[in-house]
Amino acid sequence: MVRTRNFALIAAALLLVSGCGHTEKKQARTAGHRLSAGGKARAAQAPPQRPPAQRKIDCDRLKCVALTFDDGPGPYTNGLLDVLKKEGVRATFFIIGQNVHGFPSAVRREVMEGHEVGDHSWDHPQLTAMSPAAVKSQIQRTQDAITRASGGVKPTIMRPPYGATNKRVGQTIGMPLILWSVDTEDWRYLNTARDTRVGIKEPKPGGIILFHDIHKPSVKAIPAVIEGLKKRGFTFVTVSELFEGRQLTPGQTYSERMPPKPASPAPVTASPPPTGSPAGPQPSQSRPQQAEGH
Ligand SMILES: [Zn+2]
Repeated sequence: MVRTRNFALIAAALLLVSGCGHTEKKQARTAGHRLSAGGKARAAQAPPQRPPAQRKIDCDRLKCVALTFDDGPGPYTNGLLDVLKKEGVRATFFIIGQNVHGFPSAVRREVMEGHEVGDHSWDHPQLTAMSPAAVKSQIQRTQDAITRASGGVKPTIMRPPYGATNKRVGQTIGMPLILWSVDTEDWRYLNTARDTRVGIKEPKPGGIILFHDIHKPSVKAIPAVIEGLKKRGFTFVTVSELFEGRQLTPGQTYSERMPPKPASPAPVTASPPPTGSPAGPQPSQSRPQQAEGH
């Protein structure tokens, strides 16, 4: 990365007015607030960037799926971002705090291109074996690193390493804990053909797919996975988009978006109809895949 003295000076000036207090080279702009006069001058040549807004997607009606990538950022993250951009797909990245300093611009790019960033701990320990203070530190350091690198975006979801959690850890973390419904085991096999097959075949509507963007074979599989899932009629959403309209509780685990009502097998009972908008569109015209067991 090229650093010029001018850039450093401008960055330093911006940092002073923004109160960010961290030397993050030329990407020092904050998420677009509190621009000084100098900031405005700078904005004339390059408008301040903000992350695009979260979309409103009705995942009760559409076949939604959330691609998630763990343990980055790493050397393949930018290539993956290129693919996602080309395909118009938004994903979620569960970031390891200690990896951020090597690839801060990848984190910045993730948020600016509409992806979601989540906390995946500082260095991937088993949190259930740690003291609450140590767990807190794992989370806080990572939150800080991501917030700095992204220009002000602080994660609101967390994925515990290995999916290992308990009540105490959940309470300490204080964010919804996002697991997965499809474990591709990409890290185990490191096999693009297998990743592709599993990634296309296994997801169900409302699902969360686990990949790792630190593995080259996984990243290589993603164009075909996206193509295959599009053919199956899936809409790609971030984790927060997936759970839109659902109340997520801090400390609780979530591995998929469940159907709105327990899709009762047959209306034998005299239970009243769902209290949806009566004149609204029909809840679903899709095939009965949502009724599949989970
Ligand atoms: Zn992990």
